[in-house]
Amino acid sequence: MKTYKEETKKVKAIDKHICDICSVDMKDEEWGDSETKIELKKGNVLIEGDVRLRYSVDICVDCFEGKIMPLIEEKFNVKFKEEWNDEAI
Ligand SMILES: [Zn+2]
Repeated sequence: MKTYKEETKKVKAIDKHICDICSVDMKDEEWGDSETKIELKKGNVLIEGDVRLRYSVDICVDCFEGKIMPLIEEKFNVKFKEEWNDEAI
């Protein structure tokens, strides 16, 4: 026989998510479900676990569109691909 009791667990929740460029708290902004990600995971994923070294910066939508995209496009003469995420279709 099992009996159960109610427990309260502590859960880590993001309190603030600050843009590394403009310092806006991205949790307070109205970007809907928009996401940005600039990240490199370098190394290997082993059976024991993910041992990749991770490099990342937190960038808000406005900085990504207004600063990062133009900077990369101009500096490296590339154009960001623009496509709708069609996973739901
Ligand atoms: Zn920003």
